[in-house]
Amino acid sequence: MPTLKAKLVLNVGGMFASKSTALIAQGKRHLLAGHKVLFIKPDIDNRYSDEEIATHDGQKVLSTKISSDCLLNKAEHDSMLDADVILIDEVQFFDKSIVRLLKFLLGSGKVIYCSGLDMDYKGEPFDVTMYLMGIADEVNKLKAVCSDCGDDSYVTVKTSGSNNRVEIGSKDMYQPVCRSCYKKYQEVGQ
Ligand SMILES: [Zn+2]
Repeated sequence: MPTLKAKLVLNVGGMFASKSTALIAQGKRHLLAGHKVLFIKPDIDNRYSDEEIATHDGQKVLSTKISSDCLLNKAEHDSMLDADVILIDEVQFFDKSIVRLLKFLLGSGKVIYCSGLDMDYKGEPFDVTMYLMGIADEVNKLKAVCSDCGDDSYVTVKTSGSNNRVEIGSKDMYQPVCRSCYKKYQEVGQ
């Protein structure tokens, strides 16, 4: 089996852009190749399942939750060092300490994939995603379909709920829109 070389691959974009779907597909390729694969998600994300990464269209894989401040217990630390390939979903929910953890894991030879939101609903980049885009070997910018006109989406707007930057929701609360349709939402005060 060829030796894996450390690298960081990012899947970024708005909601409904199939970021988790891409992450699951990337992990499955490594499973088929016989590599040790570990899926991780932050403990804040329990929309669909506590122990699984789930996509909006119902795909699932078993995952380990770690705290968003990346203070790992020994078992979590050992399981990361034991894996060949580490795949992290919803990476924007971690605080900046994830960067140090990922640099350490890359230095230990791990292949790492992360999926995360590039921007919040106001179109402001998430710091962690922005930083990781800078240090990644590959960045895949994924796009959903604009819910108003069908073009490629640019950002996800919030159509209900609070003004909190982080509020867990799905299509009841968020919609993907393209750059020109996004203007209409800004004009009505979104
Ligand atoms: Zn549009």
